[in-house]
Amino acid sequence: MGSERGQVPNTSTGSAALEAKIDSLAYKLELLLGPGHGGCPVCLTCSVHLHQHEATQRQLAAQSRLLDKLERKIEEIQKSLDGMVKGTGAGQRDRERVVTGPKPTGGGTKVDQPQPQPVSHTHSEALDPKQATVHTKSNRQEGAARGAHVISGNSEKVKGQPMQAMLEVFKRAEAVQSAAVDPKSQSVIGRKAAEPQKPCRLAVPMVTTESPSLRHVSSCPESLQRLQGSVRGSTLGPGPGPECGIQIRVVSATSDTSRSTSSPQICHKVIDDVPPQPAPFLHRSVSLRYSSASDTFIIHQDVLGGGRFGKVHGCTERSSGLRLAAKIINTRNGKEKEMALNEVQVMNQLSHANILQLYDAFEATNQVVLILEYVEGGELFDRIVDESAPLTEVDAMVFVKQICEGLHYMHQMYVLHLDLKPENILCVNRTSHQVKIIDFGLARRYRPREKLRVNFGTPEFLAPEVVNFDSVSFPTDMWTLGVVTYMLVSGMSPFLGDDDTQTLNNVLAVNWYFDEEAFEHVSAEARDFIANLLIRERGGRLSAAQCLRHPWLNNISEKAKHNNIVLKSQVLLKKYMAKRLWKKNYIAITAANRLKKIGSSGSLTSLGV
Ligand code: ATP
Repeated sequence: MGSERGQVPNTSTGSAALEAKIDSLAYKLELLLGPGHGGCPVCLTCSVHLHQHEATQRQLAAQSRLLDKLERKIEEIQKSLDGMVKGTGAGQRDRERVVTGPKPTGGGTKVDQPQPQPVSHTHSEALDPKQATVHTKSNRQEGAARGAHVISGNSEKVKGQPMQAMLEVFKRAEAVQSAAVDPKSQSVIGRKAAEPQKPCRLAVPMVTTESPSLRHVSSCPESLQRLQGSVRGSTLGPGPGPECGIQIRVVSATSDTSRSTSSPQICHKVIDDVPPQPAPFLHRSVSLRYSSASDTFIIHQDVLGGGRFGKVHGCTERSSGLRLAAKIINTRNGKEKEMALNEVQVMNQLSHANILQLYDAFEATNQVVLILEYVEGGELFDRIVDESAPLTEVDAMVFVKQICEGLHYMHQMYVLHLDLKPENILCVNRTSHQVKIIDFGLARRYRPREKLRVNFGTPEFLAPEVVNFDSVSFPTDMWTLGVVTYMLVSGMSPFLGDDDTQTLNNVLAVNWYFDEEAFEHVSAEARDFIANLLIRERGGRLSAAQCLRHPWLNNISEKAKHNNIVLKSQVLLKKYMAKRLWKKNYIAITAANRLKKIGSSGSLTSLGV
């Protein structure tokens, strides 16, 4: 009985007429209602287009949901990139804040200066947890407030412009890629293989005193000179056993979300906490010999490392077969020779298991060769980034305690190291936890009545008094110990900026804080230890003796019995080291290219080069 609109069936004229009328009425009704009343928005006549319109609207809604999803994805990628970039060093933190801002919960715990923290702890003294919490909370709020101010403007900008956000993401992904170079793949052109130049090291060391013989070297980096100049111008497991070491049950650190879904990985490891072996020879008081080192020693081709002044090779004593290291220092002028002599004199005064020992010394034309105790374990930070050995806070305690012991001894001997940094802490071997402090090239004898000023060092490890060109003393080394400890437990460099000037400004402003994420699994004791070293006022910093009495460095075996979470610092340090290596290679390649250019322009050819 159905009919098509406008068609009249033959079977029943009456009903057909009726149907036609109904159709006609429906048509008129459609016309009356028109668009906006459910009519067709395209042709204004049919309901077919209305369905099309609804379908289009559904599609648009789906697309808009898709866009929302994409935006969220972009934000997620950005967040994870933030994490990666953060890991390449604290220096990026500032830049990240500008692009995406810190986490809304607060970027971390800014530490106020000065720190009214206890400066002396006895063995039995415990930290006041309440005090620590209050301190942390108030600072976190401050950090959150500071961060929130920056985040609002920038995150909004990124959200509103997905393409721009994408571009930012790609740009930053590129930056991360270049920063996170695998150190292994770089080893051929890395420090050990070819170019020993260190990028951040600042020129020739120099000491000035208030005496008439006051000297000032102008070869420090421009950034430091500028700052020092302006400051001068103004006023500016099972229980441990002695044979088996500290046993730890290691729990891998996972993020909160993943922790809820997967159980933490647990393994056991034993930390060898026996004191390091002394050098394989008795302490010697060495005088420079004016003969060839190779008469007495075979100096091998292998380069163990290098610095500003030369290279360190493996070597063997001809008569005894004793394995040693030969540090060949280029002494092109009197000042460099004086510095090499200073290194010999300082090392002659130091006899301690945590301090590298001097065996012999030779002088030749434009060269001084120091024959040193050989330490085969490589640099501490290189060892730490080895993934096969997860790093826990107990590991860090064992390392830091030994550095403190070395420093304590040096300070008792009135010697300032003044160049303590990760490269200058070597592991005795690849498996043990024993370390030795090396490189006394910048070390100085401390004379209480003499104001000692220096303008050398590596920016991120410099104490404010060095940047200020104020007098230095024992607390100057303690500041640097604070920086090294901060790096060990968090993997971040507390003052590192985008360039040397920014780094030095951060140091001057004592601008550091406990990054919430990097310090997630770091104990309150460790934070207290660091907070009592990174203090502007020298007198406020813990001495080496006080550090050794600090609760963080005591009862280590007891602490090891409890679960020990793998620190995140291992991953972050890996990025830091990769960046450092990349910087070194960049400098080496730039220098090589410059030489190539000069060579091809013929300017050196005319000089017979
Ligand atoms: P810098 O530029 O840091 O002052 P430098 O020229 O004074 O460097 P050192 O720091 O003494 O040289 O040594 C450079 C590197 O050589 C060290 O970081 C280390 O890797 C390696 N090295 C130095 N001494 C030894 C040693 N006794 N045994 C093994 N490796 C060593």
